[in-house]
Amino acid sequence: MELPFAESYRIKMVEPIFKSTREQREQWIKDAHYNLFNLKSEQVYIDLLTDSGTGAMSHNQWAAMMTGDESYAGSSSYYNLKNAIRDILGFEYFLPTHQGRAAENVLFSVLVKPGNVVPGNSHFDTTKGHIEYRSASAIDCTIDEAFDTESLHPFKGNIDLEKLESVYSTYQHDEIPMVIVTLTCNTSGGQPVSMQNLKDVSRLSKKYGIKVVFDSARFAENAWFIKEREPGYEEKSIREIVAEMFSYADAMTMSSKKDGIVNIGGFIAMKDEELFQNASVFNIMYEGFNTYGGMAGRDMNALSVGLNEVTDEHYLENRVKQVEYLGNRLMEWGIPVQKPIGGHAVFVDARKFLKHVPKEEYIAQTLAIELYLEAGVRGVEVGTLLADRDPKSGENRFPKLEMLRLAIPRRTYTNNHMDVVAVALKNIFDRREKIVHGFRIEKEAPIMRHFTVELERID
Ligand SMILES: *Cc1c(COP(=O)(O)O)cnc(C)c1O
Repeated sequence: MELPFAESYRIKMVEPIFKSTREQREQWIKDAHYNLFNLKSEQVYIDLLTDSGTGAMSHNQWAAMMTGDESYAGSSSYYNLKNAIRDILGFEYFLPTHQGRAAENVLFSVLVKPGNVVPGNSHFDTTKGHIEYRSASAIDCTIDEAFDTESLHPFKGNIDLEKLESVYSTYQHDEIPMVIVTLTCNTSGGQPVSMQNLKDVSRLSKKYGIKVVFDSARFAENAWFIKEREPGYEEKSIREIVAEMFSYADAMTMSSKKDGIVNIGGFIAMKDEELFQNASVFNIMYEGFNTYGGMAGRDMNALSVGLNEVTDEHYLENRVKQVEYLGNRLMEWGIPVQKPIGGHAVFVDARKFLKHVPKEEYIAQTLAIELYLEAGVRGVEVGTLLADRDPKSGENRFPKLEMLRLAIPRRTYTNNHMDVVAVALKNIFDRREKIVHGFRIEKEAPIMRHFTVELERID
């Protein structure tokens, strides 16, 4: 018999988690104004809100924390991280920041001007926020297959080159500061971008003289899918694939809370010294001096170890297969999910799941609340609440997909936990015909409203 698949680690420290009753959860979610971000973590049993900063560090990372160098300037921790970024990702220059959006803030302060357009593959919410905050616009050039959850395209994060070229030829050169390629593409379901696509985007952008920036939060998971799915890469190591991926970028932003496997941190890396010098000015103003930015020495140390661990094949196999395990269980029951299963999360197609809830009543949020009530499992809406209102018209933007995202933290839960999540969703699926109403907004912020929105149940 073939040996079954198991975790490539054993557990040295544990953290208790708590079950609750449905009555308790009904009260808690009401008190939270039906916003899952407002729950206390102890009111959650299995927390799949995000894979950001929620992973478990290894013993080697904890050991590196102890040897962190907290010098203001020129710490050994800074050089450890600098070396890891150069050796693994291939960038000569880098600036530490406190997390990914801070990297965006610093880099975009240099690059993005009012009226600019920034094409990309379904920009992440903070990325779009930082673009729109500067009175510029993000243009989505993702391939159409990404919006068909049943399509089995192996690289649904890919950029449609015709859409990209049409942006490049419609706008003036100085109106397009960069193209942003998100690896993997979170918004379309943790879907990877192929090496061929990275190569093509780079070639096209060179032709038009446009900078290529990778939003790299899940670069290692992207590399895993290239190895698994792209002809010619089966025999290559993850390190070789990662090196080739970043050879097509001029700069990158990183949320280390994902594929850095640390709880906080981020950075910008670039090949060009002039861009580094210009970005340094803003980094010093917003984040901190260049050799620590927004990070403690100990955190930079843990990140440098994390970058090594995340590019280990055994780690990645384990990671991606756990997400796939949950996805497969749901698919066996016919629960509609984004296919193929992505790298960090299972995305449930809420519009297909809850057919009777009108789109004005926040379908994916309704499903997220049902799941919390059912089993204390916290997922997150990736739908109309997240899409915000159009900054010009003030109208709700209804995105092409209305998803419930179940993000799996790295090295944190076992497949027993995945089974609980799967059965909870199955129970809701069995009674889905009875769910006909969702929620209305009571209160919302002008930008990135999903974090703080308050809702009221519609009966
Ligand atoms: C998380 C994330 C960011 C923002 O990073 P933070 O560390 O949360 O500030 C940017 N882009 C992508 C693709 C992300 O997943």
